[in-house]
Amino acid sequence: MEDMKDDRDPKLMVVALGGNALLRRGQRGSIEEQYGNVTITSRWLADLVDEGYRLVITHGNGPQVGATLLRHEAGQKLYGIPAFPMDVCGAETQGFIGYMIQQTLRNELKARGLDKYVITVVTRVIVDEDDQAFENPTKPVGPFYTKDEAERIMEGHPGFIFIEDSGRGWRRVVPSPDPKIIAERYAIRTLVDAGFIVVASGGGGIPIVEKDNEAKGVEAVIDKDLAGERLATLIGASRFVILTDVDAAYLNYGTPSQKRLGVIEAGELEGYYLEGHFKQGSMGPKVLASIRFVRNGGSEAAIGALNKALDVVKGKAGTHVVP
Ligand code: ADP
Ligand code: MG
Repeated sequence: MEDMKDDRDPKLMVVALGGNALLRRGQRGSIEEQYGNVTITSRWLADLVDEGYRLVITHGNGPQVGATLLRHEAGQKLYGIPAFPMDVCGAETQGFIGYMIQQTLRNELKARGLDKYVITVVTRVIVDEDDQAFENPTKPVGPFYTKDEAERIMEGHPGFIFIEDSGRGWRRVVPSPDPKIIAERYAIRTLVDAGFIVVASGGGGIPIVEKDNEAKGVEAVIDKDLAGERLATLIGASRFVILTDVDAAYLNYGTPSQKRLGVIEAGELEGYYLEGHFKQGSMGPKVLASIRFVRNGGSEAAIGALNKALDVVKGKAGTHVVP
């Protein structure tokens, strides 16, 4: 297949959904809560389909994969059912979150009389086995433990690393390597060209490394916004839209002198990024992903509020990063 980067589809848009698309603050994570939130999210997504955009949807999975890891651990403790590693738990969450989006978005499209269908692709993302991140795990995952519990788990699992997480307890940390290639990119673009709305690269994708022509899952977590950029670039999307719980990217965020960014060139934004205006692990990767997307030939990346999705896409709200 030819390089899809050189075959940009002007109507193809990758939309990255933040954690608030699935869970709201204070909710515990029942399926009723998540399904209810996704139902509302799907209305906003359907507005974009109504506008004539071809959508590829990606999403976070932090709280969900944390819960899945816990279920596996509890299953092992209580029933002796072997716990699965992180890559497999990531695949589980891609499946159930994709199912909720397929169901609620298709219901909404059907109600609007739109003849469009939604499909989820279990997506692997290739990372570099020499990535510095593997020497320096930084991403906290799963439940909090006491120091004793953490030490016991580390004894049983060589290679597991725990850190004290801001006074709240001990938590496992895993590497967060930089995503390189979306393994399923051709399948995703083929489905888009056939008219499907595709859910892909959920939770930043399942991290794999390739060695001697063999791919293997690794215990790591990829940032969903950085993976979203790879997805958008490699399938030839023209736009990359990051929807979250804040209305824009700000300079001096959270201070009296905070300033909302509207339309901004990638070069200028990179200056602010290097000055440290955007927090690592939250707004930082969104800004970096946006800069990368336009540098790699995309027309525009946007960052804005989920509940203003259509306004963000129409340029009436949010931060818009241009080449
Ligand atoms: P998501 O689940 O959508 O990825 P994150 O919590 O990772 O959400 O990122 C969004 C959060 O980034 C906002 O709620 C906000 O508190 C935080 N943030 C950090 N720095 C900034 C900034 N400079 N401008 C706007 N928001 C920022
Ligand atoms: Mg985030």
